Amino acid sequence: MKLKLNYSLLCLMIFTCMAVHGQKKYVMVIHGGAGTILKKNMTAEKEAAYIADLTKALQKGYEAIKAGKTSMDAVEAAIHVMEDSPLFNAGKGSVFTHDGKNEMDAAVMDGKTLSAGSVAGVTVIRNPISAARAVMEKSEHVMMVGAGAEAFAKQSKLEIVDPSYFYTKERWDGLQKAIREDSVKAVLDHGSKKTMKLGTINKDYKFGTVGAVALDKSGNLAAGTSTGGMTNKRYGRVGDAPIIGAGTYANNATAGISCTGWGEFYIRNVVAHDISAMMEYKKMSVADASKAALDKVGKMGGDGGLIAMDKQGHVAMPFNTEGMYRGTVTADGKIEVLIYK
Ligand code: ASP
Repeated sequence: MKLKLNYSLLCLMIFTCMAVHGQKKYVMVIHGGAGTILKKNMTAEKEAAYIADLTKALQKGYEAIKAGKTSMDAVEAAIHVMEDSPLFNAGKGSVFTHDGKNEMDAAVMDGKTLSAGSVAGVTVIRNPISAARAVMEKSEHVMMVGAGAEAFAKQSKLEIVDPSYFYTKERWDGLQKAIREDSVKAVLDHGSKKTMKLGTINKDYKFGTVGAVALDKSGNLAAGTSTGGMTNKRYGRVGDAPIIGAGTYANNATAGISCTGWGEFYIRNVVAHDISAMMEYKKMSVADASKAALDKVGKMGGDGGLIAMDKQGHVAMPFNTEGMYRGTVTADGKIEVLIYK
């Protein structure tokens, strides 16, 4: 009997092959930041709250994919949950700048068209990820910053809030602690320009960014990242999240990627695009390329993690910190959430 290789048969073969080799096909992977996240420092309530919000984000993303929406819709839906949660350093719950403000960065990228959009240093847009999407879809630009980005978001009918909306006591206390430690360092090491400069970059004050990568029914990848940046940041500092190729990248030919960690190192290593390039030019797997890119960050002295997913639904979630809030959902709706190593 002649076997006609049609689409369903091909899908069945791939599925069987994956099942035989014990690989799962994922449709979404998310992160809620990497850092000094240790079980001994976590209360049972706090852990449960993180798990609940990460699960909700994955559910929202999965619902979008299941309903046949685009991977970009799924990314936006999942990130909205985390931006609206005070637990994460994005949207409500963003960290404070040295001047006591919340200045947020976000980016999205579409793996099919290589379209991208981002915003940086925004202070009144409730969901910066939607502003990034609006830049991508409703303007001819890729990146908008500050007041201009906010005016564009207003014009795009996005929800505008008073800056006080983003306040949480925990982040405010975090800023006070960072300022105290900065001044102690300055006193101990007076005259050292390096210490003054690095004073804003305390190991524990730079994490909590959120990100998502999704794969839709049409086989298209999308990635997004949203963050309040680093506690105690100054001078209009912008991290890697809104920089296409550094903290965020997506290409159907390779993978969708969202990074979290010490942004300066991710910018200098162009991490997200580096993963895509290694996959494209060296034919590396998403897991090997992700590990190699993060190793470069580590060697340079940077820390953090990232999520990546290729077009076949393979995921990688490496990090070189104690923990990373992260989770996945498979094509058949199985959700897994992880926090520690
Ligand atoms: N990468 C972000 C930044 O440097 C921080 C983070 O991931 O938490 O702005």
